[in-house]
Amino acid sequence: MQCSHCGREVGETIHTQKGYRVDYYLLHTGRTERSAFRDPRDDMASLAYLKLIEPVDIVSCAGCYADPAIRRRLDDDFKGLSSILDPEPVEGREQNQTPNHHD
Ligand SMILES: [Zn+2]
Repeated sequence: MQCSHCGREVGETIHTQKGYRVDYYLLHTGRTERSAFRDPRDDMASLAYLKLIEPVDIVSCAGCYADPAIRRRLDDDFKGLSSILDPEPVEGREQNQTPNHHD
């Protein structure tokens, strides 16, 4: 098994007399698709959900997991804010959202 970020070989969790040392962290994720389920009996009721279309396991070695940038991407993926499978955002690019005009 290899780290998904730097590609280094990761080992199993090492148990010692004082405890254990974790060599990697696993994030179970995948490509998702936003879908909506509509209740045909009620037009107003629709349940939005993320359909998992391609399950992927992201392996993060202890070194990469300590990297705040990687940690943030793992976190965002876990929270469903952005997928870690998407390309890295370009450095310095602001998230420009079209301002709402209320005249
Ligand atoms: Zn790594």
